[in-house]
Amino acid sequence: MAKVVLNQVSKRFSDSVAAVSELNLEVADREFLVLVGPSGCGKTTTLRMIAGLEEVSDGQITIGERNVTHVSPKDRDIAMVFQNYALYPHMTVRRNMSFGLRLRYGGNFVSRLWRRWQNAENASKREEQFQQIPAKVDQVAGTLGIGRLLDRYPRELSGGERQRVALGRAIVREPAAFLFDEPLSNLDAKLRVEMRRELKELHRRLGATMIYVTHDQVEAMTLGDRIAVMDKGVLQQVGPPSEVYHKPANRFVASFLGTPGMNLLEGELVEENGRFQFRGSGVQLEIKANQHPGREPNGTRKIVLGVRPEDILCQENASSDWLAAGHGQVELIESLGDVGYVHIRLPGDEANGAVLPRITAKAAVNAANGTVPGPALQDRPA
Ligand code: ADP
Ligand code: MG
Repeated sequence: MAKVVLNQVSKRFSDSVAAVSELNLEVADREFLVLVGPSGCGKTTTLRMIAGLEEVSDGQITIGERNVTHVSPKDRDIAMVFQNYALYPHMTVRRNMSFGLRLRYGGNFVSRLWRRWQNAENASKREEQFQQIPAKVDQVAGTLGIGRLLDRYPRELSGGERQRVALGRAIVREPAAFLFDEPLSNLDAKLRVEMRRELKELHRRLGATMIYVTHDQVEAMTLGDRIAVMDKGVLQQVGPPSEVYHKPANRFVASFLGTPGMNLLEGELVEENGRFQFRGSGVQLEIKANQHPGREPNGTRKIVLGVRPEDILCQENASSDWLAAGHGQVELIESLGDVGYVHIRLPGDEANGAVLPRITAKAAVNAANGTVPGPALQDRPA
């Protein structure tokens, strides 16, 4: 097992734009790190550079204590699991799983004979490991619940079974680190949740370093010991999920994480004698905040206010609801069964002109009649 370090790693496919820019990332030994970001932000490219499938344009990569920047993929001691499984269609599951090990310890029949004939130094050790391959494949297949599938071909398997085989193929190799590229995105929702739990369990059991790429923020939040958020090839923030969720480093991270993401309102923070008030986007609200040291106590600053949808209280007859001050109008309520998303249009600032800010609140759905509280908002004139 090993730690993985990326030092100022960049990738340019052409002169114009960098797919990955000056990426610094340190993945601790045995850590489960999730690299998350929208499609096209450079996740796969990053993973492929770690695997050695893509040359870096700049920077260094170390695995363990070894600088592997220019080491070929097969000598990096890592295993990669892809979204499309990448199984060999003409090989059985057993063969697919053992293939990598057979190459490493055996080679073909002739090269094994040749080694034995030459009585090469580690020939007997390698032969022993070669002989143990079938038992190892059986054992890993057992753990993953695919023991009964060993003699089937990939075309005879369901998506979930194929994904398990791809996982098994990686596990039998006992790599220093596992790399996953959106391994669950071809599975249906129910299976995805199940596999997510199994992956987490597997990580606990193997105690291996894992780097997991996804565009799905739920996967990121649930799987990662830490998550690294990327946008347009640039790392935005790294930290434990709860930290990144509650203390986003910037607007991108704030709106990317969460379903729906954080509401961002432009406005001013007015400070008067230790009291803070936010004014903007057509709303006014008191903010409980500690005074920042080293700042002028009174004054007005332009800020962007971030409010999580779940932190907005929707209630009937909301007399003191801060939205009431701005006569927000409910545009749409989407019910997901247990919770509802309440999309609200704010009146906006006169100065802001045409674009009316929208915010989304998350509210519990009334189990009895399936409604979301908040008609008080609806009743007011826009
Ligand atoms: P992600 O996995 O986050 O969706 P990628 O790493 O696949 O993103 O791609 C990052 C950027 O690099 C994209 O703009 C993509 O078009 C570009 N890119 C990826 N691979 C190549 C390639 N082989 N040649 C040229 N551009 C590429
Ligand atoms: Mg990708």
